Amino acid sequence: MILFSAVTFLFIFITSLIAAGVLLYLVSHDLLTPGEARLRPEGVIFRMVVWSCALGTLLSVLFGRISLYPINRVIDAMNRLAHGDFKTRLVFPAGLDRHPTAVEVSDSFNHMAEELEKTEMLRSDFVNHFSHEFKTPIVSIAGFADLLLEDGRMTEEERQEYLRIISEESHRLSDMATNVLNLTKIENQTILTDVTVFNVSEQIRSCLLLLESKWTEKELSLDVDFGEYQYSGNRELLKQVWLNLIDNAVKFADQGGTLKIGITETPEDLIVSVSDTGTEIPRESVGFIFNKFYQADESHATQGNGIGLSIVKAIVELHGGKVIPSSGGGTTVFAVVLPKK
Ligand code: ADP
Repeated sequence: MILFSAVTFLFIFITSLIAAGVLLYLVSHDLLTPGEARLRPEGVIFRMVVWSCALGTLLSVLFGRISLYPINRVIDAMNRLAHGDFKTRLVFPAGLDRHPTAVEVSDSFNHMAEELEKTEMLRSDFVNHFSHEFKTPIVSIAGFADLLLEDGRMTEEERQEYLRIISEESHRLSDMATNVLNLTKIENQTILTDVTVFNVSEQIRSCLLLLESKWTEKELSLDVDFGEYQYSGNRELLKQVWLNLIDNAVKFADQGGTLKIGITETPEDLIVSVSDTGTEIPRESVGFIFNKFYQADESHATQGNGIGLSIVKAIVELHGGKVIPSSGGGTTVFAVVLPKK
């Protein structure tokens, strides 16, 4: 505002100076004396008005462009961003770039552009992973189905084996689709709904029962000595958290290893920890395990699709809590910290 007022003042001042200069010149050279034949005062005033207006307008256009230059730069950058160029950054020319307002505007703009760029990268990463993860089982199903159709000489055993693979891969696809849909639903949820007070300890015990066939097959010894704890949250969603964490613990535990679940309480939080003895999370992978489709073992030898922990994180964060993973000395622990309020 101050800049604009100053510029406008400058135009008026310069135009008045010109007018005064011309007047002074005319008077000092006796050209403005009434009755003179050469110059009539109306003609002089008329020309002065015309020249002043022309000069004033010209100066306004020139200086206006200069004073509006920073705003035009912002508009230009906004337009590029709006057209999907998320690499756009706002940089003011030297001199202007140290002005506090310019610094504030460019910092905010660049921060917004960086965030949009990150979101765009996450989105395209997700689409890439999604397509890849879905393509693998589909290719396998199609391949084995073709074999069954074309090869008339296969043994009954081979036929059964191919059908088993087709069935397994179809279930994997269906599970993955369900998981992705669940995750999208939770991620789009901003308010926690269906909050009830329930017994978490009981819920965890029932999850253990649901997965009994898996941990007995692995001959795991269970250490699940915890007291009774109540929590106020979304019962269905939290059940998903325990199922995913326990399922992972069983999956990554060594044959005959230990599965331990503990529950503790502080005045602010309820803390549930799920730990297992077996495969550790490699140090370089810890930062990525919550990413969609991420699996530390790139050979994808263990069953799963890398969505489980993304769902856990989304649900816990919806409850205002956090998940803290730690792995070392042959033990992997996932601590879920849920705020009581
Ligand atoms: P999935 O289990 O389907 O592979 P998750 O999102 O549940 O996907 O887990 C992502 C990755 O985190 C796993 O592939 C594994 O590398 C690592 N991980 C998760 N839980 C454990 C655990 N209890 N022990 C060791 N590694 C784990």
